[in-house]
Amino acid sequence: MYFSKLFVPTVKEDPSDAELISHKLMVRSGMIKRNAAGIYSWLPVGLKVLKKVEEIVRKNLNNFDAEEILMPMVQPAELWKESGRYGEYGKELLKFDDRSNRGFVLGPTHEEIICEIFRSHPKSYKDLPVNLYQIQTKFRDEIRPRFGVMRSREFLMKDAYSFDIDEKGLVKSYGKMKDAYISIFNEIGLDYRIVKADSGNIGGDISEEFHILADSGEDLIAVSNSSDFAANVEVLNYDKDPSELEGKKSPDGKGKLKIKRGIEVGHIFQLGQKYSQAMNVGVKDMNGNSVHPFMGCYGIGVSRIVAAAIEQNHDDRGIQWPDKITPFGVNIICLDPESDEIMKVCSEIYSILKKSGFDPLLDDRDIRAGIKFKEHELLGIPYSIIIGPNNFKNTKLEFGIRAQNEKIDMKLDDIKKYLGEKYD
Ligand code: ATP
Ligand code: MG
Repeated sequence: MYFSKLFVPTVKEDPSDAELISHKLMVRSGMIKRNAAGIYSWLPVGLKVLKKVEEIVRKNLNNFDAEEILMPMVQPAELWKESGRYGEYGKELLKFDDRSNRGFVLGPTHEEIICEIFRSHPKSYKDLPVNLYQIQTKFRDEIRPRFGVMRSREFLMKDAYSFDIDEKGLVKSYGKMKDAYISIFNEIGLDYRIVKADSGNIGGDISEEFHILADSGEDLIAVSNSSDFAANVEVLNYDKDPSELEGKKSPDGKGKLKIKRGIEVGHIFQLGQKYSQAMNVGVKDMNGNSVHPFMGCYGIGVSRIVAAAIEQNHDDRGIQWPDKITPFGVNIICLDPESDEIMKVCSEIYSILKKSGFDPLLDDRDIRAGIKFKEHELLGIPYSIIIGPNNFKNTKLEFGIRAQNEKIDMKLDDIKKYLGEKYD
């Protein structure tokens, strides 16, 4: 993509409602635009990142045998009355009537719909396990939407639902999804922890959360310094200031607790029969009796991951994208686009890198070099090639590495090899 053709409305000032650095940087780099409290549009650069996260999630879930579907965002109120959550869920559930006065809700999660789908096709134990997922817009009328897309009202979630004939099967499906999550977060390349969690108003018994570690995280998590024990402090039933847990004995008897801050980006639950019972979902067991299947449900905050990645990867000049979710692979910064000779070199390098699949950006705008460098750092593209009057004839190019704040002279072939290893 040529920068001159890119719609990237960068903003000089921090938005007045922004507290978090990720919120400021996403608005300033033209990734998102606020349309109402907790409601955002994703602009081209932001959407590229969001789509990359989405693709990593999708690819890994498919690898672990989950099947993609797409359910409606608008859900009939009757289903929510049937599960008992119509009243229980609280004000986050946005309710409305259609022109015939039928009640509907905007889906904050999809247990009711998935049960409705599943129960309409009689199944036997032989057809299980089944694991269905979608990547779709959710709506929760959060009391205090804040931090940009980190806690918004409309957001993109991956939600998956598994069905098994018994508890043993559920434990297996749950374990498989946990493994899928581990490979997702490893691939995105963020520092995260898996912690024991409270299951909130989704219900069920066992649940774990995936947290990206960041000082700005809303959740406190307690980790042992000498075992793999880790828990959201919510589950430790500690009624005093949770930061006092620092240095206390770990509940598993091994080592002492350290308190860290995390951003919840994933949550997996063993629901058991809570919804299959309430929604009257039946499956034939080995003896031909109809039983309620054991369900699991599994969420990932796809849009929240984008903000969390920035919280963990930035400096005082801007974003530093992890390689796997960068909007562009490399930024070719042309210092004199008015010169045909120089632009010719830039365009040739651009074509070569594009053909090699590195998704380059070519900054061909006729503006001051200082602004190009500033915006390059703000946008967070991990690598750059700087071409100007002083070096366009050289065989070695000036190659910049954003995270190390370093520039090295490299031949194009070596740059290709280097990028090939980063973006394999
Ligand atoms: P939180 O405790 O942060 O409110 P939750 O526990 O209510 O989240 P879940 O029902 O577990 O959320 O939803 C699955 C995932 O969706 C969460 O782990 C989180 O990453 C994401 N998510 C939930 N609420 C929001 C929101 N308001 N904005 C963006 N992402 C969200
Ligand atoms: Mg949760």
